[in-house]
Amino acid sequence: MSIEIDHVSMEFPLDGGKAIRAIDSVNLTVQQGEFVALIGPSGCGKSTILRLVAALERPTFGRVAVEAAEPTEVSRSHRLGVAFQDHALLPWLTVRKNMAIPFHAARRPVDWKRIDELLALVGLEQFANARPAQLSGGMRQRVSIARALVLRPTVLLLDEPFGALDAVTRRSMNMELQRIWSEDRITTLLVTHGVDEALLLADRIIVMGGRPGRVIKTIEVPFARPRLPEIQRSAAFHQLADELTLALEPEDN
Ligand code: ADP
Ligand code: MG
Repeated sequence: MSIEIDHVSMEFPLDGGKAIRAIDSVNLTVQQGEFVALIGPSGCGKSTILRLVAALERPTFGRVAVEAAEPTEVSRSHRLGVAFQDHALLPWLTVRKNMAIPFHAARRPVDWKRIDELLALVGLEQFANARPAQLSGGMRQRVSIARALVLRPTVLLLDEPFGALDAVTRRSMNMELQRIWSEDRITTLLVTHGVDEALLLADRIIVMGGRPGRVIKTIEVPFARPRLPEIQRSAAFHQLADELTLALEPEDN
């Protein structure tokens, strides 16, 4: 198992010394080479789960392991590729130099060829020498995804990476991500709002509910790979999309 979240609860302190339980006894695993999508309403703890796996938080209760080790260990050895919503591109550096940051952090020589390949892959080769402020939000997201891949991670964590993209760009990025994933079989945990995106990309979809955040449903996605956008027109796709949308609806209305 590549990512293992074992009975993890997370509490955050409230004013007055009390604590609020943000996630409650979550069990979740991602097998090596598996692509898992995490969906659920806003505030149910999806980003907290990614932050736990990335060693940016520690669980209040329970255990998190990545490649059978402490998350901090995996993070320190730079086997983790991370693209979170708040893509921390440095405004004073060019796109290409922003892509080099992981090499500096890992104290490795910068592989400019790899950087240029990835920029081409996300369709930004013409913007290599632009600064982040000259790019659209969607383009900046593409840079942060490309940057997450630059050190050839074995585990990839993506937090709503396509949120700011228009539907057409989003679809083509979905197809690119599927291709990258199929080549290297990176163990991937993707947080997304898109039911269609989850069905298109994931081997398994985990649906979370809120207050406190918990796992409410797991769906195995049965479609063969490579998956073409056309599968979205199949009856099986529609049925699963309906099932997921229903699971996402609040229970208390
Ligand atoms: P999601 O990504 O699913 O929208 P989050 O993981 O961001 O949800 O947040 C889950 C819950 O935990 C929310 O209620 C949020 O307010 C709370 N939370 C997250 N991080 C912190 C923090 N650092 N301090 C206090 N509360 C937090
Ligand atoms: Mg979030």
